[in-house]
Amino acid sequence: MAGAGALGLSAALSLAEAGCRVSVWDPGGAPQASAVAAGMLAPVFEAVLDDAAGDLDLLLAARDLWPGLAARIGVELDRAGTAAVGSRAWLAEVGERVSGLGVTADRLSRAELGALAPGIAPGLEGLWVGDDWRLEPRPALAALRAAAVTAGVEFRAEAVRSRADADWLVIATGAGQGLAEAAPELAGLAPIKGQILRFAQRRGGRVSLRGEGAYAVPGAEGLAIGATMERGRDDTEVDMAALAPLAAAAGRLFPELAQAACEVSVGVRAATPDGLPMAGLSRTPGVVLAVGARRNGWLLAPMVARIVTACIMGGESGPYAPRLDPGRFQGRAR
Ligand SMILES: Cc1cc2nc3c(=O)[nH]c(=O)nc-3n(C[C@H](O)[C@H](O)[C@H](O)COP(=O)(O)OP(=O)(O)OC[C@H]3O[C@@H](n4cnc5c(N)ncnc54)[C@H](O)[C@@H]3O)c2cc1C
Repeated sequence: MAGAGALGLSAALSLAEAGCRVSVWDPGGAPQASAVAAGMLAPVFEAVLDDAAGDLDLLLAARDLWPGLAARIGVELDRAGTAAVGSRAWLAEVGERVSGLGVTADRLSRAELGALAPGIAPGLEGLWVGDDWRLEPRPALAALRAAAVTAGVEFRAEAVRSRADADWLVIATGAGQGLAEAAPELAGLAPIKGQILRFAQRRGGRVSLRGEGAYAVPGAEGLAIGATMERGRDDTEVDMAALAPLAAAAGRLFPELAQAACEVSVGVRAATPDGLPMAGLSRTPGVVLAVGARRNGWLLAPMVARIVTACIMGGESGPYAPRLDPGRFQGRAR
């Protein structure tokens, strides 16, 4: 296994549980998208607010694999739900799209919104959906790794440079292109840089919020406001100019944030042409791909892991495997 992010670790654990001998290689050191992420498991608002996220049925099916995985690795899922927050006109549009998907949403009174999100700007209204959850990414990475070790997975702090002599190579290298020679499909991935603000002093809020131009997630490391989508960029430099619209959106949600100190974290997402991951066999014999999860890698990780495991160990890959087949871009989807 090349890569110990959310996708690589989930797949390594699943393979080891299925009886495979797994060795995970990752040099570490560089900022990792999985550690930077907000940790939202958000099928509904991703389907509603992001055109490239994929269909709700697939995203819900991925989310539904999480309770089982979370129980196996001892991670708590925050199921308090998520509220869209914004102007009346914007919220009406969002509400229409949510109900168009057949999802139940509740309008929040101003008092209810204030209780769920203390400090929220006056004049904003809220719409709550119970289907979008979240987890804490860093503890989840640690828990996945610990569970993988318990299941017999070995770890090496080195980069994989070639197909080498393993029976199978699983490539879960995020936006990394180091193994492009081993799997031509990696050339189809485009980087999307993401910067996210963390306000360590601001812990308030009981649910994640989705606003116009930003989300706000109350996590263990403070309130996270995210995230930029900088297409074509794969650097991890802080870029204040690119952050300005996000900071402005944060201030519109919580006026006090306009003056508050924050830290910036940066990660690079990998995106396929249709926005869904490549999970399955590469054109290169013996190589399996688990890449390209774009902005929903945490949400999709257990689904990708299941497909990778079925490729190598047999068993059920689930109904969504054809939609994630890397061959769909070469017209050979099975
Ligand atoms: C700001 C931001 C916010 C996000 N918020 C969310 C969210 O709320 N919910 C959600 O579901 N998703 C979110 N995402 C997306 C999510 O983080 C990614 O889709 C997911 O983390 C990708 O996981 P990965 O394992 O594919 O890649 P990564 O986490 O990038 O891990 C790849 C690993 O591969 C290693 N590697 C690279 N090359 C090699 C090599 N040759 N050999 C060995 N190892 C190698 C790297 O060191 C790295 O550790 C967010 C992303 C960003 C940037």
